[in-house]
Amino acid sequence: MKLVLLGAPGAGKGTQAKGLSKELKLAHISTGDILRIAIKENTPLGQKAKRYVETGELVPDSLVTQMVIERLSSDDVKDGFILDGFPRNRQQASDLDNFLSGRNTCNYFVLYLDASEKTLIKRLSGRRICRKCQAVYHLINFPPLKEMTCDHCQGELYQRSDDKEETIKNRLEVYQRQTAPVVEYYFKQKRLIHIKSDDDAPLVLRQMLEVLAKPFSSRS
Ligand code: ADP
Ligand code: ZN
Repeated sequence: MKLVLLGAPGAGKGTQAKGLSKELKLAHISTGDILRIAIKENTPLGQKAKRYVETGELVPDSLVTQMVIERLSSDDVKDGFILDGFPRNRQQASDLDNFLSGRNTCNYFVLYLDASEKTLIKRLSGRRICRKCQAVYHLINFPPLKEMTCDHCQGELYQRSDDKEETIKNRLEVYQRQTAPVVEYYFKQKRLIHIKSDDDAPLVLRQMLEVLAKPFSSRS
């Protein structure tokens, strides 16, 4: 199965992609994670992407698309994948279609995670990440057992620089301007599956798995 997760920052793409990837045994491809690792390791890609990621702007298409195409060309994604964070504008959506149609693999679905702005802001501002293993916590919804310490690896938790209040606002604007039109694009292509994602993560995951188990014609 090939899936694209679409939704505003804070809609739960990363969390749900991890859940789906475990349940459905699909490779999880997160452009945000790949970029953050490149920045941490100070690779040429990381150096170019840093200022965009930190201010909540989109990294230029040429860089991101190439990165995704390289990843989609690996062997472990031949039979399925979950794309999380890509496409993020119309250009990227067309580039993805061009790439996939060239490989005769255009039968993918798009799960659109839709949460209220209040939910998005609450989730983003309370999010904390493990420096070592990138596990995701939330100060209120999903706190670690020991304050600011990862349950899995004892690494230190930190707040992503783009989860600070000033940057959250910009990311939501960038989403409205650039990514919201992609929802329309996939709706017209009849690939879109609308999922309300204000509820707790396990509940949203269950709904997604139920919808994916049905034939497409009866999905909504
Ligand atoms: P979120 O969805 O919560 O904003 P991500 O981890 O998906 O977080 O993305 C973080 C940042 O990485 C984005 O704000 C952007 O700068 C960059 N990024 C991720 N995916 C893309 C993409 N497809 N195109 C351009 N930039 C991207
Ligand atoms: Zn950890």
